[in-house]
Amino acid sequence: MTDGPNADSSGNAGCLAVDRSSFYAPKRSLGQNFLSDPNICRRIVASLELGPKDPVLEIGPGRGALTRILAGHDGPVMALEKDSELVRWIKTQFPAVGVIHADGLDFCWEGTRGLPGLSLIGNLPYNVASPMIWEMVSRCRSWKSMLFMVQKEVALRLTAEAGCKAYGALSAWVGNFARAQYVFTVPPHVFRPQPKVDSAIVRFLPRPDPAWDDGPALSFTVKILFQQRRKQLGTILKSHWSPDVEAWCADLGVDRRVRPEELGPDALRSLARVLGRARKLSKG
Ligand code: SAM
Repeated sequence: MTDGPNADSSGNAGCLAVDRSSFYAPKRSLGQNFLSDPNICRRIVASLELGPKDPVLEIGPGRGALTRILAGHDGPVMALEKDSELVRWIKTQFPAVGVIHADGLDFCWEGTRGLPGLSLIGNLPYNVASPMIWEMVSRCRSWKSMLFMVQKEVALRLTAEAGCKAYGALSAWVGNFARAQYVFTVPPHVFRPQPKVDSAIVRFLPRPDPAWDDGPALSFTVKILFQQRRKQLGTILKSHWSPDVEAWCADLGVDRRVRPEELGPDALRSLARVLGRARKLSKG
């Protein structure tokens, strides 16, 4: 493992030249679809809009397509990678980057509080992007922004508004902690190996009034509601119905025949508070 992505073994000018003999085959189990187009890489990093000296953490640096650009940033640059082979390679190639060998799915994100104004970026492994974002977004308390590449279909769910077909538990959960914006679509041909579907970049800006304290009740509420998204609210919440839920309906002008997909993040958050209070009382 010597030359890696800096060497153009193919003579293919303009491509992110990865000397593939330096690496094992991409691991499908780790969602390893590597970016091979430097223009897209530059556009992705520019979309993060890092300020001078901002700390930045890349999730899944892989063979360094984005890391190489981030390494030129004048603030602290860190990278979190699960694949031990790639961890070793990134450390050798980018000595100034702080490399964390860890699994983003069970990483203690609270530990980043010592880095206020942190920005996160990553071409996320598609097989675990949704659960990873679910965990990260509810812990973005001290972060400045996040910019992730995910499958286009997931990007549409992340950014969907209530009432849209793509709106679901993930959209409602994310919408309580951050404003998610669809930035641009990325076609399959800029990856090696190529995925079968389009990808997209999504930017997340933490809300000024995030739902930190309501997290557990909100998670319970969106999960039970969207497991039965075609049913009416009154039917789904039959065993949780109470005068408080009735009062919530009256306050928000919500009919009990409404379906979960018609309730926006803020309405779901206030419903979660009502259900959370009742659950606390029943637990004694
Ligand atoms: N950033 C590189 C690029 O754009 O070419 C690689 C992106 S590749 C889609 C996803 C990367 O995330 C791989 O390097 C993979 O090993 C890493 N990865 C997969 N699962 C992970 C996990 N649970 N935690 C941290 N990194 C993970």
